[in-house]
Amino acid sequence: MQTNPQMLRSIVIVGGGSAGWMTAAALANAVGTTVAITLIESDAIGTVGVGEATIPPIQSFNARLGIAEADFLRATRGSYKLGIEFVGWGAATSRYFHPFGSYGADFDRVSLHHWWLRERLRGDATPFDDFAMCWALARENRFGAPVDNPRDVRSTHGYAYHFDAGLYAKFLRRYAEDRGVRREEGRINQVQRDGQTGHITHVTLDDGRAIAGDFFVDCSGFAGLLIERELNAGFESWAHWLPCDSAVAMPCTNTGPITPYTRSTAHAAGWQWRIPLQHRQGNGHVYCSQAMGDDEAQAVLRSNLDGEALADPRVIRFTAGRRRHAWVGNCVAIGLSSGFLEPLESTSLHLIQSAIERLLLVLPDRNHDPLNAQEYNRASQAEYERIRDFIILHYHANTRPEPFWQQCASTPVPDELAYKIRHWMAAARLVSPQDELFRNPSWLAVYLGQGMVPDTYDTMADIRAGTVDPAAQLRRLRGLMQAAAQTFPAHDAVLARLAAPEPVA
Ligand SMILES: Cc1cc2nc3c(=O)[nH]c(=O)nc-3n(C[C@H](O)[C@H](O)[C@H](O)COP(=O)(O)OP(=O)(O)OC[C@H]3O[C@@H](n4cnc5c(N)ncnc54)[C@H](O)[C@@H]3O)c2cc1C
Repeated sequence: MQTNPQMLRSIVIVGGGSAGWMTAAALANAVGTTVAITLIESDAIGTVGVGEATIPPIQSFNARLGIAEADFLRATRGSYKLGIEFVGWGAATSRYFHPFGSYGADFDRVSLHHWWLRERLRGDATPFDDFAMCWALARENRFGAPVDNPRDVRSTHGYAYHFDAGLYAKFLRRYAEDRGVRREEGRINQVQRDGQTGHITHVTLDDGRAIAGDFFVDCSGFAGLLIERELNAGFESWAHWLPCDSAVAMPCTNTGPITPYTRSTAHAAGWQWRIPLQHRQGNGHVYCSQAMGDDEAQAVLRSNLDGEALADPRVIRFTAGRRRHAWVGNCVAIGLSSGFLEPLESTSLHLIQSAIERLLLVLPDRNHDPLNAQEYNRASQAEYERIRDFIILHYHANTRPEPFWQQCASTPVPDELAYKIRHWMAAARLVSPQDELFRNPSWLAVYLGQGMVPDTYDTMADIRAGTVDPAAQLRRLRGLMQAAAQTFPAHDAVLARLAAPEPVA
């Protein structure tokens, strides 16, 4: 059988951060050596060096590459993540948990949260968190994979990972190079384009080497070397909704058990992440530079570290927003070059993963049909905007007194988010599209956790209340979860088993 004479012969990936090596590994896995893949990176420029918390779909990224979980966690000094604990996003002492997986189980044709809202109006003060298996485990620092039996509460949780981003890039580099990816070290200082089509033909390094390709993937980080500096794709800023524009990062030593969750603590003009790994904790303070200076932001971070600082603070600047066209001509931007959303819900590495999956669905040939780019850009925009709205919700729903937070709470939200909030507050109705990354449990976590609690519930709950005893059922569910959590081992013990050398055969 004849192959397409216009088939791609070569792909050049510019950049070797998480985006570059994730792309290289996934492309090598998908196309083998039929298409030559070259990755260019510059040690002198380096990588952004953060990006350590993930969400559950990362499991399928690794699985598709055939990477075993234990190997991956050993190589990246990783830990398990059951969700995010949010501290101080309402009143200073407020806490809630955004779990992976679902909340308990709906019963008698009515969603769990409607039963919960009904009981709440009757005086029951049980936190909604108590119906998440993830929280039952997290509060006890326990971990185990969900069981494969939908009738068991231990099947209702999900999980992701925390890991060292630098080690992950190294791990994927080895994987990609083993499968034929060629790495070139050097700084690109020129980009050459075809005079007729405008397509990129090759890039030139400082030492004069020219590297040609049929298709280019811009993974050059915030620089947007190809997509912006060369192709002027444009940037849509979302800073008016998400005004944080800086972060200071500083790792510290572990103290106490390694928690199987990320913590996000709100401060006066932003929030702090705490990401536990096997060998250290990743910490950072995301803040709005108009509301807080760098020195103060660093002092806040230092005074809220659990352990001893392991490095000097490092400041990173950014603007929330997305590249107007992630794909232009024969170049697609993946990673920070395609846009940035702050790491509040650990979505950037996922955006890389889904960009790669999208690219593989519309991989072009050398005719570069613009329809590929059109569909890619449409889907990319929809994904970015929906995640953006979910992150905006955290800011919009805060009840903190500081001027920064008051300003965030009073800024009008995007239309689709306003629609969702209207339905939620009027009818406790969740109206997210099926293909949205953050599903109903995530929206419930933030709405209820940040005090957006409707004084209403589905009328079906009253209609069905005669056939069940909802209060007893909720009590039972909560008890089942608390008991089930005891059957899982301590997270530290699970990690220790991973780290233990394999027994000699
Ligand atoms: C403060 C902060 C916290 C974050 N936390 C999380 C998190 O918890 N979870 C999450 O999922 N994501 C997080 N992210 C996002 C995550 O860090 C990035 O999505 C991820 O690291 C991918 O970055 P990148 O590969 O696109 O860019 P980079 O890591 O910046 O890599 C860019 C690459 O391009 C190369 N390059 C640039 N210019 C040239 C040139 N001229 N010539 C040759 N090479 C060049 C560089 O050498 C480098 O190899 C965070 C981001 C920030 C800013």
